[in-house]
Order: sequence, then structure tokens, then C-alpha cells
Amino acid sequence: MSEINYINDILEILQINDFSHNFVPFPFPGTNSCILKKANDDGIMTMYINLKSTIINLVCPHCGSYNHHISKGTRSINLKHFSFGSLPVVLVVSYHRYICNDCSSYFAEDIPFQFDNRKATIPNVQSALFEMNENHSMASISRMHGLGKNTMYRIFNENIYIPDRFYHLSSVISIDEFKATSDKGTYAFNIVDPITGKTLDIIEDRKASFLKNYFLRFPFTERKKVKFIIMDLSGAFQCIMHSLFPHAQIICDRFHYVRLVGQNFIQSRLDVCSFLHYQPLAKSIKRQLRLFYKYRKDLDNEKTWYDFHLKRYFTCASYIDYLYDLSERRNNKDCDDSTMFDSLVILEMLDNYEIYQNLLKFIHEKHNDYKKELNRWLDYIFDTHNSYYQITAKNFRKKWFIPLLCSLSYTTKYKRRDRFYRTSFNNGFIEGMNNKIKLIKRNAHGFRYFYNLRKRIFLHLGYSYTFIYKDRKKGIPIFQ
Ligand SMILES: [Zn+2]
Repeated sequence: MSEINYINDILEILQINDFSHNFVPFPFPGTNSCILKKANDDGIMTMYINLKSTIINLVCPHCGSYNHHISKGTRSINLKHFSFGSLPVVLVVSYHRYICNDCSSYFAEDIPFQFDNRKATIPNVQSALFEMNENHSMASISRMHGLGKNTMYRIFNENIYIPDRFYHLSSVISIDEFKATSDKGTYAFNIVDPITGKTLDIIEDRKASFLKNYFLRFPFTERKKVKFIIMDLSGAFQCIMHSLFPHAQIICDRFHYVRLVGQNFIQSRLDVCSFLHYQPLAKSIKRQLRLFYKYRKDLDNEKTWYDFHLKRYFTCASYIDYLYDLSERRNNKDCDDSTMFDSLVILEMLDNYEIYQNLLKFIHEKHNDYKKELNRWLDYIFDTHNSYYQITAKNFRKKWFIPLLCSLSYTTKYKRRDRFYRTSFNNGFIEGMNNKIKLIKRNAHGFRYFYNLRKRIFLHLGYSYTFIYKDRKKGIPIFQ
């Protein structure tokens, strides 16, 4: 029967086996166990594990002489290790101190699993860093690892370094801005590859000069590779991107233009509420905001709800039908003037509602000729001199006609988790990314410096980082 090496097993459980062969578990004085459970200074039950050095063959860190030293006794240090569940673990490490015979200087034995002269072990710091990949606050990480808040901040500031991003531009890029810190630009700039779902880079400022400097790092042959740029309805970005990527087709995100047209309709709806003579109807229309935003054919026609203002039961679809019926009343000769006026007002609102619904129809249903349909939609607004949609329609025709058309007619294929999906070009992915960033900011109660925010975002997204260790003036053991 072979001899079982319990010492190695204990070191393996503590995850310091890879770091050290010169420190071994050793019984506490007066006991026969290397593990001691007692309350610490704060009254919390803690597990103490005693470790002792076994090697004396050392190199002097000051002059480099080998084995010319005299022991000056031992010291012990308490290192915070990661906890076992709710039980905190502290390693009590005894190490030797020596004086060198050649240069007469003192030096201590190296503890390979100690992190940067701090009272923490490397596995503990590494697992703390692993939690930083999740969206946990620094305070909760420091509490879980017994590290002290300031130590945690110092590790984050001094020992982690996110290198500058070097990457190739992909054929589709998606760009957006988000509100960042005030020390650099107020708005930061986010570049994402929506096909692979990777954040390419986060830039500190969205100013035109800054973006030009940034993208001109890429040679023209590299910039030529970009075929599609997806963005929201920002005129400034369109100009910059068009000058930097002359070969790329700009596509605007459908959510943004639908929202813009939707807001125009909502304005007309609010005006109706103030014009109507019949107040319960005005209040009811004001309440049903969500209902008007939705595509009419998708409205639910089964679940009934009670309208307190009109004192009737409706389904979502029947509510819209009810409004259409009201607008028909103008043909009835018996109506008084105020009812007649109300029905005309509602008729105008429903006219605006139909313009908005016709835009939704482009997205929800398949058309053969989007260009013709879109032109017809815009012409209708110009012909009727509709004051609510006029500015938006002019803007669409003048600047965004082709980007809008592309967003309606082009589709792409992308792969997630070994499955292929066909989708239109949209900014959905980057808006999701922005939401993530917003959560990171909220969880940290805001950031003061952009550098830290960027670092935290990249850690959260699981990007590679370099871990900086400081130089230690400790005696390094030699194994023979
Ligand atoms: Zn020396």
C-alpha cells in the first residue's frame, strides 16, 4: 500500500500547492492539529491554519550570495484566505528572517502565495477578481473576501491593467454613445460588432475631432473592410462616419425612428385630450398610452378590462374600434355641436394614428417594394400638411432616406450558441450593452474617472487583463 501524502492534499484544498513546496501544515503549539477554530477579534468564528517553512537554502536578494546567512529567528503573519462558505479562513504563516554574511543586510524568506506584501493570499485576490467579472460592488466583494475596502480599491487601481485594444475592423459595426464620467468627455463612445457580439472598444469622448483621430489609426485598406455601419438618428455621427468610411453603407436603427414618429403621434394625442369637450373620454385616452404604441393587428382581443372614465368594459382591440365608432358620429344629423366637434377631433387623431400604424406595418409585414411604400408614406404627410409629422418627414427625406430603406430591406445572418438566426440590421445588441454599463455605474454609485469605468466594463465583459506584481526584496528559495 502506497503512502498517502496528506500534506499535499491539504495544500491542494487550500489551492496554494502550485505556489509553494517549502511551506507545510504544522500543528499549533500545544495541540496536535494544524487547524484551529476560534473567534477572531471581531467575534466572528474563524478557521486558522498553521503553515511553517521547511527550506533554508536561500539566495540573498541584496547581493545574490547563496547560503551565506544566519537565522535571526522566525516571524509569523496572518494572511486572509478565501472563506469556506461562511467560515473565514486565515493562514498563520511562520517565516524565517536572516542576516547575510556577505553584505550584512537583513532579508526575509519569500512567501510565494502572499500577495504583494499585503495580508492576503494570491488565491484570495484572484477569486476576488473573478467576482469582479460579475456585477458585484467593491464593498460586497471586499466583505466576502475579508480584504478591507481600501485594499480592494488599491488592487483594482494598481495591480490590474487593461491594455489598449488592438483589433481588426469587422464588416459590420454598430456605434452608440452613453453617458460616462465628467473628467473626459461627458458622453463616451461605444463600438460593437453586432454579428459576433463583441465589444470592440470604448472611447472616452464622442467629439468629432476625437473620433477622427481614433479611426484614422486604421489605414484606409482596413477601413475599407467596413461594409455597414448601424447607428441611431444622429446627424453628427453620420457626417463623421461618412467621411471616415466612404465605402460603408449607413443604416439607422429602426427602434429610434419608430420612437421618433411615435413621439410625434403622442403629441397629437395629448393635444386631443385638451381639445375634447367630453372629459371622461379625454382622461381615458390619456390613460391608454401603451395601447396606442402597439401595432394594431397585434392588439389583444380576448382579455377584458374596465375603463373607469367611460364606465365600460373593453378589450385592447375593441377600444380602438370604439374610437373609430365615435368618429363616425359626425355623419349623424341629430348630434349637438359639442359631440360633432369631439368626433372631428377624434377623427384627426385617428388620422395621425394611422400614419404611425402605417410605419409599423413596414416592420411587421413583408413588402415587395419598400422604396415605393416609403415614398408613398412620406408623400402622404407632405400632401396633407400634417403639422405633427412635418419636421420628422422632412428630416427622413433629406438625410435618412437611404439608411431607413436599408434598415427595412436588408437582413443578415448571425450565429449564437451554434444556431444561426436571420435578423435585420439593428442596434439591439449595443443598446443592451449600454444597459449593462448603466447597471455597472449604478452598482458602483457612480464613477469619477473614465479610466476606472472603462476598466470595470472590460472586466465585467470578461476581457483579458494583465496582473501586475511588485518587486519583492525577499529571499528566493533554491530547489535542488
Ligand atoms: Zn547579501
